[in-house]
Amino acid sequence: MAKKRKIKKPRVAKPRNAGTMTESAFWSFIRSALRQKSRWWKPITQCKLKARRPYKGPNKRQKFEYQCKECQQWFPDKQVNVDHITPAGTLRCANDLPGFVERLFCEIDGLQVLCSKCHDKKTKKEKDELESRKT
Ligand SMILES: [Zn+2]
Repeated sequence: MAKKRKIKKPRVAKPRNAGTMTESAFWSFIRSALRQKSRWWKPITQCKLKARRPYKGPNKRQKFEYQCKECQQWFPDKQVNVDHITPAGTLRCANDLPGFVERLFCEIDGLQVLCSKCHDKKTKKEKDELESRKT
């Protein structure tokens, strides 16, 4: 009887994009493509406009400022993010796709303006919750 040959499984299979992409690289590629499109999603622009007021401080170049929903402070444009109240979540396989798209392209009531600090805090909290769910 022939010796059973041990088939060495390649560490990571690359079934996508003409054999150049792993499954996870493929899904992060799709994820970033969708995220890019969400920059032109109108509710996101509207959400930011709603949180905006004319700036009257000393910086002559700054025309507007934005209020963080969390800490209620006012910030320049560069220090705020439009946040998905329900995070779009992970996109690791085709099954994640419908939910991910629904959450990413939500309407204005699913969005809020957060300053970088509050946004980081929220992102970290969500990450921690995800981690704790795994164990
Ligand atoms: Zn804040």
